[in-house]
Amino acid sequence: MNKIDYLRISLIDRCNFRCQYCMPEGAELDYILRQELLTNEEILTLLKKVFIPLGFCKFRLTGGEPLLRPGLVNLVRDIASLPQTQDLAMTTNGFLLANMARELYNAGLRRINISLDSLNPNTFDTIIGNRGRSRWQQTWAGILAAHQVGFDPLKLNVVVIPGLNDSEVPDLAALTIDRNWHVRFIEFMPIGNNTLFSQRAWISSEQLRQQIRARWGLIESSVRGNGPADVFQIPGAKGTLGFISQMSECFCDRCNRVRLSADGWLRPCLLNETGQIDLKTALRTGISPDRLQAKVRKLLEIKPEINFQQRNSGTQTGWYSRTMSQIGG
Ligand code: SAM
Ligand code: SF4
Repeated sequence: MNKIDYLRISLIDRCNFRCQYCMPEGAELDYILRQELLTNEEILTLLKKVFIPLGFCKFRLTGGEPLLRPGLVNLVRDIASLPQTQDLAMTTNGFLLANMARELYNAGLRRINISLDSLNPNTFDTIIGNRGRSRWQQTWAGILAAHQVGFDPLKLNVVVIPGLNDSEVPDLAALTIDRNWHVRFIEFMPIGNNTLFSQRAWISSEQLRQQIRARWGLIESSVRGNGPADVFQIPGAKGTLGFISQMSECFCDRCNRVRLSADGWLRPCLLNETGQIDLKTALRTGISPDRLQAKVRKLLEIKPEINFQQRNSGTQTGWYSRTMSQIGG
């Protein structure tokens, strides 16, 4: 059985982008009220008293957009300085990163994934739902700032949407030729925007690899992460290419993670809420750390069964009403 030792922590469900694949156009999302967000102290208590004693040692901060979270740098410093933290990473859209990269690095963050779906500012703005002044330049500046302060590995996440950015796949892949960056192509999942998904559908990792092979050639990489990506390289490139194929392949049996939402719900699976626990209410009503641990242990025990249900429930064509920004991507 897989050791479950990786917690993805959503810090906020709000976002300064409105990516087409993540948020339904025009729909008003019910944002979590500030007083309902887990505080930094509550997150640290949960880590120290519940998750770390249960063997968790890898943490990723996400959202919504985590750079919007008040008190972020202090939280990063506190988590990074826990002796049991083996890995602390963040997923961000990078828009506010240029001014925060150094502070986050100094606070102890070492790994960062930045979403970048296009090299073309117009396409980028279309995808992120921006109608004002282009946001591409500032996002790119955030990526360069992260590179300059020394984030390693620096990963770029690309969700590939047919007809929107799939033709850019070879150019995005080429970013790895001269830089030690990891560009990861993510298959578009039917979470967040049903209309877009039914109009555009999704494109498989293998089709993307064919495009890259035709332009640059492609070899399997000896580098292997501990996540779900299959890793390749353009021959002679400094960086790598990852393919996350949750639609064309099922990697539930390799899953080593659970997710904590910004309002304190612990979910066993991105796509399945079965057995989820409201840790915030438990914490605020004074339940002892031992009882909290027992609740989480029970969820971890049923996770393989939940993964199995997920694999067999036809979810690869199903539709999820909660967005990635709400669940914590
Ligand atoms: N705001 C940050 C960002 O965009 O990187 C972090 C949160 S976001 C929800 C986390 C990841 O989920 C991003 O890499 C995003 O591309 C991915 N994502 C969101 N909706 C998706 C979907 N429908 N299919 C595949 N990936 C999705
Ligand atoms: Fe915001 Fe990230 Fe969702 Fe885009 S993918 S809308 S940046 S939470």
